[in-house]
Amino acid sequence: MPQRAIEKRPKQDRYRGTAHQRGYTHAWQRAARAFLDEHPTCVRCQAQGLVTPATVVDHRIPHRGDQRLFWDVTNWDPLCKPCHDRKTASGQ
Ligand SMILES: [Zn+2]
Repeated sequence: MPQRAIEKRPKQDRYRGTAHQRGYTHAWQRAARAFLDEHPTCVRCQAQGLVTPATVVDHRIPHRGDQRLFWDVTNWDPLCKPCHDRKTASGQ
């Protein structure tokens, strides 16, 4: 029996450099899309009485490469792109 177990695992051991290396992998994209399916409205806009489709999953607490925080759904916020950009720019 041929023993060829070639496992393709994403490299997540380092988190400087590209977004992919910080954990934004295929698995993340899939999880984020499923999350947005369940939470289709931007929470920041919603707080202002606006209904805007969420397109970005934001980490409420910056994960800084922390995988536990990264994958903690309670730390995820559905945001629209403008709100996400605003948050990123202002650091709030
Ligand atoms: Zn918004």
